[in-house]
Amino acid sequence: MAKAARPAAARGAGRDGLAPLLERLGFAGPHELLFHLPLRYEDHTRLTPLHALRPADAVLVQGCIVQLRPATGRKPGLWVRLDDGRGAIDVRFFKLHPGQRARWQPGVWLRCHGPVRAGLYGLEMTHPQCRVVRPDEPLPERALAIYPTVAGVSQDRLRRAVTETLARQADLGLTETLSPERLDALGLMVLPEALQLIHAPPPDRIASLSAPRHPARRRLAWEELLADQLVLRRRRRWAQSQRAPVLGDGPALAARVEAALGFALTAAQARVLTEVRADLARPVPMRRLVQGDVGSGKTAVAALAAAVALGSGWQVALMAPTELLAEQHLRSFRRWFGPAGLEPLALLGRSGAPARRVVAARLAAGEPALVVGTHALFQDWLRFARLGLVMVDEQHRFGVQQRLALQEKGGDLTPHQLVLTATPIPRTLAMGLYADLDVSVIDALPPGRAGIRTVVLPVGRRAEVAGRVQAACRAGAQVYWVCPLIEESEQAQGEAAQRLYERLSADFPSLRLGLIHGRLAPPEREAVMTAFAQGDLDVLVATTVIEVGVDVPRATVMVVENAERFGLAQLHQLRGRVGRGTAPGNCVLLYEGPLSQTARARLETLRAVQDGFEIARRDLALRGAGEWLGTRQTGERRWRVADPVADADLMAEAQVEADRLLTEDSALAERLIGLWQQRAERYAGA
Ligand code: ADP
Ligand code: MG
Repeated sequence: MAKAARPAAARGAGRDGLAPLLERLGFAGPHELLFHLPLRYEDHTRLTPLHALRPADAVLVQGCIVQLRPATGRKPGLWVRLDDGRGAIDVRFFKLHPGQRARWQPGVWLRCHGPVRAGLYGLEMTHPQCRVVRPDEPLPERALAIYPTVAGVSQDRLRRAVTETLARQADLGLTETLSPERLDALGLMVLPEALQLIHAPPPDRIASLSAPRHPARRRLAWEELLADQLVLRRRRRWAQSQRAPVLGDGPALAARVEAALGFALTAAQARVLTEVRADLARPVPMRRLVQGDVGSGKTAVAALAAAVALGSGWQVALMAPTELLAEQHLRSFRRWFGPAGLEPLALLGRSGAPARRVVAARLAAGEPALVVGTHALFQDWLRFARLGLVMVDEQHRFGVQQRLALQEKGGDLTPHQLVLTATPIPRTLAMGLYADLDVSVIDALPPGRAGIRTVVLPVGRRAEVAGRVQAACRAGAQVYWVCPLIEESEQAQGEAAQRLYERLSADFPSLRLGLIHGRLAPPEREAVMTAFAQGDLDVLVATTVIEVGVDVPRATVMVVENAERFGLAQLHQLRGRVGRGTAPGNCVLLYEGPLSQTARARLETLRAVQDGFEIARRDLALRGAGEWLGTRQTGERRWRVADPVADADLMAEAQVEADRLLTEDSALAERLIGLWQQRAERYAGA
């Protein structure tokens, strides 16, 4: 099920030349074009007579060319004087195609759309959209939709494709399937009407269309949400029809590992572990998501789940999104499994060929083994003879395809699957987004955490912060100093970290500083991390490589430069690196003003609130779902129209409807799945 067949619609599109366009836009079929929402509309349905013209942002005018003269002054170009018999206007063009210039002669009529401004000698238009017309050429009846475009696709090309597709919507399977009563109850417009209205509205409807709860937009959102739920549910049913090894931990390995942890599980961890163990003991593949705020102790739960599988004689793979995190897991697992005589295997990007061969041979031989790694685990040459459990840490960093690829390494039996995430989202939202998974929540932190005190300061008070940091270090504290987020490249990010490191080295001649960023060679990185973890460094200058999962309980202070550039979720994850031990954490968020109102509200939220779920709730309210749902990682949205927060009511209804369709109207369910599967597969659960 990893590779869905291309839908017939997409193949057929090749004949009318749509296929390259769809490919450019990343659409699975022409029906997706109709879910590409316009950014705005232009009203080309009414002409303003030239004598009645007033300064305005956008008007449509036409007139006969009565004069053409080159523009003088600093900017070159052409002045064209248009006259419609009752009035006239000067229109200025900076650059024309030679073809245009040749056609534009006195006596030719032009129709122009654009802003009108008061110029030195009367009203004028500057470089409007423009085309040659007959004076009596009819006006369109509908407003013109302006779409977000991508490189290589012109607005015109896109608009023509949408218009053609609108005419074929029924053939493409976009028909109304809800009864009038249901549409009413859900506040939705009939699908064909909604599509027509969104892509070609009468001008008097333009203003209302910008409302997020418009029944036309909601109808499209419904289609996406329903399709998504259908795909997830079908995938879940499919998984439940597969067979998995029964993992009951014969030799009670889990108890020995638990004894080596060095702490007692919290009640929340124990409850989640019980849920996981119950799943593992069934001959059906587990598909469970464990949510827990940063620092809630997900790793220990994963370790004990691994112990159950190993104790039953099966192999376990744990995948982490960064080398740094994989290395840290290896250190913990060595400590926890060592007393039981088990050595975890490593498969990292930097593992050399001989090391890989050893790991591959042991996995192929079928001996119980725990392998910890990064993306390197996906590689084709790696075969597991007895893969019983796949665990993915920080799963929002991976695509669903990667998760499925690992699962497919199982052979006859499907391995159990446990995914961990620190992205705290409200439970109802999680149930919708991860409808193909069971969700467990570790809803408490280990005892004795003294919490994190967060202060938000303007960058002007940096020297004062530096003074305090120095004093804290003299008193034995360890500090993360996070450099500003730079979006361009990992290289630029590395250079910024290097600059900050040099600057702080000058500021703190008597302190021991380390530097860590993504461009550092792995052995160097590991040496720095180990030194910091052992207390041999006072200050670790870092990029966001430390954002996921890094666990050094002795570190208690974090300074974040240009905190306003980070997302709230990201700051919460970063801050979660401190306050992990019994000493209270301190976090200083430095910002460079002026701050937008939203930026101010976000930093204030972070200052006032420690609970990740509560922060998520507020951030969702402030900024919508994008950031929390990991669009940052994929750069693409799971839905084009729907917003799982704004459309939460529809999301809930779509879940019920999907269940109903799958049992009562499987033909319709299959039709919708066929239409949308390719898109949903890419994002579901990711
Ligand atoms: P996260 O959920 O963010 O992945 P970790 O698994 O890294 O959190 O755990 C955070 C820290 O808390 C680690 O140092 C871990 O050893 C410690 N820890 C986990 N569970 C407990 C517990 N029950 N009691 C005390 N400390 C714990
Ligand atoms: Mg973690």
